[in-house]
Amino acid sequence: MLLKTEFVKARSLEEAFCAISDRADASFVAGGTDLFVQIKEGKRKPSRLVSVREVPELLGIDLQRGSVVIGSAVPLSDVASSAVVAGHAPLVADACLQIGSPQVRNRGTIGGNIGNASPAGDSITALIASGARIRVKSLAGEREILLEASFLGPGKTVLSPDELITAVVVPVIQDHTRVAFEKYALRGGMDIAIVNVAISLDMVDGLVTDARIALGAVAPTPIRAVEAERTIRGNRPSSSLIEEAARVAARECCPIDDVRGTASYRRHLVYVLTKRALAKVCQGNVGRVWGCAR
Ligand SMILES: Cc1cc2nc3c(=O)[nH]c(=O)nc-3n(C[C@H](O)[C@H](O)[C@H](O)COP(=O)(O)OP(=O)(O)OC[C@H]3O[C@@H](n4cnc5c(N)ncnc54)[C@H](O)[C@@H]3O)c2cc1C
Repeated sequence: MLLKTEFVKARSLEEAFCAISDRADASFVAGGTDLFVQIKEGKRKPSRLVSVREVPELLGIDLQRGSVVIGSAVPLSDVASSAVVAGHAPLVADACLQIGSPQVRNRGTIGGNIGNASPAGDSITALIASGARIRVKSLAGEREILLEASFLGPGKTVLSPDELITAVVVPVIQDHTRVAFEKYALRGGMDIAIVNVAISLDMVDGLVTDARIALGAVAPTPIRAVEAERTIRGNRPSSSLIEEAARVAARECCPIDDVRGTASYRRHLVYVLTKRALAKVCQGNVGRVWGCAR
C-alpha cells in the first residue's frame, strides 16, 4: 500500500509545535536535502512533515551578548555569505561554504545539518571547535545544549521528536583566537567529507593558551580530539609539536571502513589535515581565517 505523507507548512513556531505534537510519527523538515533523500530511499516514513523553512523566528542572524545567534532555518549559503558570521565566527562561515554545491547550500539549512546528525556534517565540526550551543524548544519549554553533547550516534541526537532547534549560538571569536577548517572529499564540496577537521587555538605571546580540535567522519559522532588538544595546550608551537599533536589526533579517533574510505585511510587523513590546519594556524600571520574556501 502506498503511504501518503501529509505536508504542513508552519508559518509560526506555534503552528509548528501544534502540527508536530498531534501526530506521533511526524517530523520537522527544513530544506529537505537530507530528509527527502532518506524518505525516497525508504529509510524514514513520516506520516506528516512539518516544514519550518518559513518560520520567521528561525530566519535571522544577530549579534547577542557576545555571541552570533544563527536561526536554525537560515540556509547554509546565507550563513557562508553573512558579514556578521564572517567577522565574528569565521570558522563557521568557512565550513558552510564548503558544504555541497550552491544549490544544496541554498536549500539546506544549518539546523538541518545538525538535526541530521551525520558524523561527517561539515558545519558541526566547525561549530564544536567554536564552542557553539544550540537553543532547543518544544511545547514543554526551552533549553540550551552544548553542541558537542547533542549527538548519540549516526542520525541520533539527544532531542525528542517534538523538540525543534531554534538557533545556533556561537561565541564571538576573540582577537587572540586563530581558526582553520580542512575537509577532504572525493568530489570536493559536492561530496560528504571522508574526513573534516576544525581547529580553534587561543594564542597569547606565542603560547597556546587554549585549543579545540574537532574531527568529523572518524567516529559514530563528531568528536573532540582531547588528547591532541592537551598535547598542544600550554606550549609554544613548533614543527615537532604540530607533528606530535597530529599523530595523537590520528591515534585517538576511531574510524570505520565504508564506501568512502577505509579506517586506516581516514586515520591517515586525520594526521594530514590536523597537521595542515595546525601549521596554518600556528605559522600564519595574515588574519584569522584560514582554510580552503572556494
Ligand atoms: C548533493 C548533496 C551534497 C551534500 N553535501 C554535503 C556536504 O558537503 N557537507 C555536509 O555536511 N552535508 C552535505 N549534504 C547534506 C545536507 O545538504 C546538509 O546536511 C543540510 O544542512 C541539511 O539541511 P536541510 O535543511 O536540508 O535538512 P532536512 O533534510 O530538512 O532535515 C535533516 C534532519 O534534520 C531535522 N531538522 C531539520 N531542521 C531541524 C530543526 N530546526 N530542529 C530539529 N531538527 C531539524 C529533520 O527532521 C531531519 O531529520 C549534502 C546533501 C546533498 C543532497
